[in-house]
Amino acid sequence: PAAVLVRGLTYRYPDGREALRGVDLEIRPGETVALVGPNGAGKSTLLLHLNGLLPGRGASGSAPGIGHGHDLPGIGKGRKREAEPSVWIDGMPVDDRHGPEIRRRVGLLFQDPDDQMFSPTVIEDVAFGPLNLGRRKAEAKRIALECLERVDLADASDRPPHHLSFGERKRACLAGVLACEPTVLVLDEPTANLDPRSRRKFSALIRSLPATKLIATHDLEFVLEQCDRVALLDAGRVVADGDPETILGNE
Ligand code: ADP
Ligand code: ADP
Repeated sequence: PAAVLVRGLTYRYPDGREALRGVDLEIRPGETVALVGPNGAGKSTLLLHLNGLLPGRGASGSAPGIGHGHDLPGIGKGRKREAEPSVWIDGMPVDDRHGPEIRRRVGLLFQDPDDQMFSPTVIEDVAFGPLNLGRRKAEAKRIALECLERVDLADASDRPPHHLSFGERKRACLAGVLACEPTVLVLDEPTANLDPRSRRKFSALIRSLPATKLIATHDLEFVLEQCDRVALLDAGRVVADGDPETILGNE
């Protein structure tokens, strides 16, 4: 099956704003796809749908969010209306029932590392994922160290995250994502706000990862360097999908 399949995905935020309007996207295993488009096009909203952080078919206005909607008083389970899935990962629908397995397979790297670092030390932060997946403490620590080595941060293991530079925190977050061994990587503006040297280093690191990747970015150099395909999003729709030279040449 496709590594990522999105079919007719429509999403409206609770305030009524329609952020996605019938998005179709298919990513083959091992492919690296760039998601480009102006601010507000819906890129972040689409990325969040890939690991179930937002519910599918939001247009109905009553779709239950992941982890919510089960225990509403007065609403019997038999009558609860399940949102129909519009996103599949490795053939598995992104819905409430597959939530934990989906979150294990899909590694999400936020644009701002401070949105995903919460522990007193870097190594504890990176070990959080594997621990959460049921690994023993020593095993989780071994995996965390290994992943910190992969991102060239083994020396920073015992430091508090806020002592690291922005670029170092991005790499630490990536280590935390890799520690869960995802098959699909979803990256939101990975090279934004990095100085040229950190940008080159992070870009090379991403390129070296074998997973299937969907990457929202404004960095055209990055797209030309390492993306197989570009999907152009505008006002909640995919308006172009093809090879980078063609899409970026026509933009
Ligand atoms: P992009 O990542 O391409 O900049 P977003 O997915 O962040 O686009 O936003 C898509 C649309 O949804 C925009 O119109 C934005 O204002 C709106 N939006 C984003 N987040 C929220 C939210 N939490 N509540 C309401 N509207 C939102
Ligand atoms: P940047 O210019 O990338 O934001 P910083 O100036 O924040 O980087 O940090 C430069 C170096 O100093 C980094 O290697 C970082 O790990 C280290 N550093 C920053 N703040 C502290 C701190 N409070 N204690 C120890 N080391 C720090």
